[in-house]
Amino acid sequence: MSTTPAPRASDAIIVPERITPKPADAESLDVWGFQDTRFAIDGDGNAEVLGNRYELSGQKLTRLMPWIRDTLGIDISASDVFRSQYPIAIPPPVANAGFCTAIRDFLREDQVTLDGELRLRHGHGQTQEEMFAIKYGSVARVPDLIVYPETQEQVEKLVVCAEAHGVSLVPYGGGTNVTDALRCDEEEPRAIVSVEMRRMNRILWIDRVNLTACIEAGAVGRDIQAQLAAYGFTMGHEPDSIEFSTLGGWIATNASGMKKNKYGNIEDLVLDMTVVTANGVLSRTAASPRESVGLDWRRMMFGSEGTLGIVTSAVVKLFPLPEVQEYGSLLFPTFEDGCGFMQELARTPSVPASVRLVDNLQFQFGQALKPASTGWKVYKSRLEKFFVLNVKGFDAGKMVACTLVFEGTREEVAQQQKAVTALGAKYKGMAAGSENGRRGYQLTYGIAYIRDFLMNYYIIAESFETSAAWSDVLPLIRNVKKKLEEEYARRKLPGAPFITARVTQLYRTGAAIYFYFGFYFKGVANPSHVYLELENIAREEILRSGGSLSHHHGVGKLRRHFLPSIMSDTALAWKRSVKAATDPKNIFGVGNQGL
Ligand SMILES: Cc1cc2nc3c(=O)[nH]c(=O)nc-3n(C[C@H](O)[C@H](O)[C@H](O)COP(=O)(O)OP(=O)(O)OC[C@H]3O[C@@H](n4cnc5c(N)ncnc54)[C@H](O)[C@@H]3O)c2cc1C
Repeated sequence: MSTTPAPRASDAIIVPERITPKPADAESLDVWGFQDTRFAIDGDGNAEVLGNRYELSGQKLTRLMPWIRDTLGIDISASDVFRSQYPIAIPPPVANAGFCTAIRDFLREDQVTLDGELRLRHGHGQTQEEMFAIKYGSVARVPDLIVYPETQEQVEKLVVCAEAHGVSLVPYGGGTNVTDALRCDEEEPRAIVSVEMRRMNRILWIDRVNLTACIEAGAVGRDIQAQLAAYGFTMGHEPDSIEFSTLGGWIATNASGMKKNKYGNIEDLVLDMTVVTANGVLSRTAASPRESVGLDWRRMMFGSEGTLGIVTSAVVKLFPLPEVQEYGSLLFPTFEDGCGFMQELARTPSVPASVRLVDNLQFQFGQALKPASTGWKVYKSRLEKFFVLNVKGFDAGKMVACTLVFEGTREEVAQQQKAVTALGAKYKGMAAGSENGRRGYQLTYGIAYIRDFLMNYYIIAESFETSAAWSDVLPLIRNVKKKLEEEYARRKLPGAPFITARVTQLYRTGAAIYFYFGFYFKGVANPSHVYLELENIAREEILRSGGSLSHHHGVGKLRRHFLPSIMSDTALAWKRSVKAATDPKNIFGVGNQGL
């Protein structure tokens, strides 16, 4: 049996060209993102965005540093830099000569590396703790070897060799997870081999009649997006990490994209997948629209976090590119008004592809990231501000914003825009234009760059998320903010913390909630650990307030200690039994979820 569902033989099938990574898209190893982009402080003390890739690139953000100083209640000096020590000492590799010899039979020299900085990079994702450790701390263990398979067959052979020679395999997608899912267990005595999947990046076929595509698991989101668009399609899955995360990573973490309201979450979009496990290949003969075939192993792969096997390809649903894409935004006098709007909107047939409600602090942060206006724009923005504050009577310290993306046919979009505006008005909302909406979404791509930039100035920040029933959404956000503020004060940490929330993916029963939390850490001993303690306290409060352990980031190692508080012993034992039966030698020994 073929291991990848074959396309129907017909001229409806497109076989796209292989994607060749562009040298200009090289990624940084020590910080988030493309090498050509970073935030810096110029000679006048203003933040600026270097490079020319993004809309903000080349811009001076004159309001950002003053806003940060005011918000955190501290004085940051451009000359007082917390210098990165990257690369820190990299542990020497644990050798497994038998494995290395065996893989030479089917991997070329350029498919294997022992390079230290690459090994360091393959041993972490993007949690603040990991990013702090690689610049200012230490790591006890990183992968000992990286292999770059290019075919399904090579992955199968790798697993056979791993079993024969006692090696632990860790699949690596884009390294964007925020759960310590790639962090190596320092107690692991075996050689750890990172299986870097990004050379398996082909769209194997597109079936334009049945609207499906078979894509290799190492394909990166931005490439999938661009290549499908060239043929008039989209998968509709757009996590904020789309520039770097991979299809296999999306499945393994059970990801959710910003347009899930229209297209669905990853589990809604994947019809079938092929997985190389310790005891063989999981595959099927066809990818049907829906089936009832008994217990379904595919479901177990969503959220498997590298513990059960390596996803090598998947058949996904496609959508024609929308005829129209429009941005929009609404302002509400308070977060409560905005939440009322979101809840009612979620139960209408007019939910836009994406809707995000940010609280007042996050709204202000967005304003602080606006480049300085010049000429007519100065008057326009003053006029707008005057209208919102003086005519509409909104309070600058309470108002919130909702950004919207509409996608569909012209009629659908027009209907949704009308319905959303009318519903917004019911909650005292006012339309704030498409430009503000578009900017809001573009900023998404800047957030992780800003996190790394601020770390240079003793500010540590990151996000965590949850989902909750509608009746819990507002109380949960209030409780978590209050808890963090109290804990911050109790520990006498410097200045004021930055705590902000937004309500994002919508469901009829509830919503996803996304927090950013950060603080100034100069003078604080072991700040990354302090952050972790506070994040754990916030998570406890989330669970107490009715939230989930995670809506889309997953568990990894960061949150595995919470599993016994959300699942029965029997539920946990079931998971361990599956792992023991399918991977008795623990070849996929990455250790996520305690598996
Ligand atoms: C700035 C930023 C924005 C983000 N935005 C979102 C968002 O909007 N939505 C969202 O859901 N998440 C988001 N994330 C989290 C992250 O991008 C997702 O978890 C993503 O799905 C991880 O994919 P990856 O390819 O980078 O996987 P990696 O980080 O490389 O790996 C994650 C886990 O999956 C396993 N894995 C990877 N590939 C495979 C494979 N082929 N087979 C089996 N296991 C595999 C790894 O072993 C690991 O356990 C964001 C993260 C950042 C830093």
